[in-house]
Amino acid sequence: MTDASPWAAGAAYIDGRFMPVGEAAIPITDWGYRRSDVTYDVVGVRDGAFFRLDDHVRRFRASMDSFRLRPPESDAAIKAVLHRCVALAGLRDAYVAMDCLRGRPPAGAPYHPAHARNYLAAFALPWISLVRPEVMERGAHLVVAETLRIPARSVDPRAKNFHWADLTRGQFEAHDRGADFCVLLDEDGHVTEGPGFNVFLVAGGRLATPDAGVLEGITRDSVIALCGELGLPVAVRPVAAAELRDADEIILVTTAGGVMPAARIDGRILGNDRPGPVYRRLHDAFWAKRAAGWHATPVDYAGA
Ligand code: PLP
Repeated sequence: MTDASPWAAGAAYIDGRFMPVGEAAIPITDWGYRRSDVTYDVVGVRDGAFFRLDDHVRRFRASMDSFRLRPPESDAAIKAVLHRCVALAGLRDAYVAMDCLRGRPPAGAPYHPAHARNYLAAFALPWISLVRPEVMERGAHLVVAETLRIPARSVDPRAKNFHWADLTRGQFEAHDRGADFCVLLDEDGHVTEGPGFNVFLVAGGRLATPDAGVLEGITRDSVIALCGELGLPVAVRPVAAAELRDADEIILVTTAGGVMPAARIDGRILGNDRPGPVYRRLHDAFWAKRAAGWHATPVDYAGA
């Protein structure tokens, strides 16, 4: 496959059909688009293997159940679609998304989501990282946004969703204040998460990450496991905004980037304005274990 191949930019699947990602489109009338009535998940591929594929598909199914979305594909069929997208694009390192869209009620049916035929969309793109290399080098600059996270009783953040108006507004606050990323609080002043990542703080050698109001991130879960292996104490508990602002280190974690450092929050410099030592240990251990095949499922390239 040459770079001129339309598949080199990525491969997609929509409702039963595979195509180069540049040809993939959804109907403009779809409620997945018009109402953000869609759920999704993202799994990474490094060195030709998925990371925690079963866990991502399990979470995707839980998100679909939460939003009462039901595509025709079984979990096994979804996994086969993801393998094929990566294989068709010929990617060794990939960002692999799966979405389930509401669709729209057919003509004549009641104008209610219960009557829509839901369907699956998926795509594989060359690997994407949330954080640019220079930000990995210096550590991200964060702000605690004025904008609050949408209450969990309105939109459950454990079901992955595109109700991103709060996170997007927070990103403009960050931009206006010369920072890279926002972190949002809940109505009680507790830390939740940022646009596409979970948050850990380090204070006095102990880590903490919010217990509620967040996506239960698969990278977060992996980092908690790593803390156990490295003998780093970690608590999953409510985290007050003041604790985050006073932390020794802040670490951001996500599929699209892994373990990422922060160096400033609300203009305050953490440590020496560079990625901290606990971040380094976790980052290095995470990628060393990944390279050694931790939770890896090799991509089935033969199936393409
Ligand atoms: N929080 C939000 C809002 C996200 O969108 C994401 C990932 O996209 C995460 C956290 C991190 O989750 P994971 O580690 O499973 O990618």
